Amino acid sequence: MLLEELRSEVIDYARQMAHSRLTSGTWGNVSARDRETGLIAITPSGMDYDSLTPADIVIIDEHGKIVDGHRRPSVETELHTIFMRNRLEVGSVVHTHSPFATALGIARDEIPIALAELAAVVGSAIPVAPYVTLATAALAETAYRVMGDGRAVVLRNHGVVAIGETLKDTLAAAAVIEENALVYWLAYQIGEPSILPREEVQKLRCLYLSRYGQGNSKG
Ligand SMILES: [Zn+2]
Repeated sequence: MLLEELRSEVIDYARQMAHSRLTSGTWGNVSARDRETGLIAITPSGMDYDSLTPADIVIIDEHGKIVDGHRRPSVETELHTIFMRNRLEVGSVVHTHSPFATALGIARDEIPIALAELAAVVGSAIPVAPYVTLATAALAETAYRVMGDGRAVVLRNHGVVAIGETLKDTLAAAAVIEENALVYWLAYQIGEPSILPREEVQKLRCLYLSRYGQGNSKG
């Protein structure tokens, strides 16, 4: 089976996404790129994450053409491949329907940075893309344009897209985005939330990139 290990990793992270309540049911989707071949493993359309086996994951090229697999790929395939085609550093895309971030994206034009960990992991306030019907090329184009050179975007009335170098980094970013939105909402019940200033956000991002971790590529 082509890219069996990568297919299994995609299943692991898709299950983590569902079990962390970043999405419900079969919504949301996960992809990862094989650096050697450039091929992409993506979750199939409308299948329960707990029932997936490696054979259910679909292998596509960066234009969304099926290379291996007997399932239909996610209906949001273009939402993944547009980032893979245009940003070489992207190794993974995660699309969630996480409720607090999505709610903030309905009420605000950007998700402010309330948590230091979001500043570190994502590095900038997260823009909100205008509403576009799901599963369309226009949705992918809008998400790509509004994200700019950032690492995440909220799709109004829909969900969140996060990108990263690895599945682990990308799902972690999606989880921190949701936690930030939850904490912001909790603070809003008490009073006006205090947002991290832009300079502090940049400082935290630099610190994270240069010093966080155990001596891997992040230092
Ligand atoms: Zn969606």
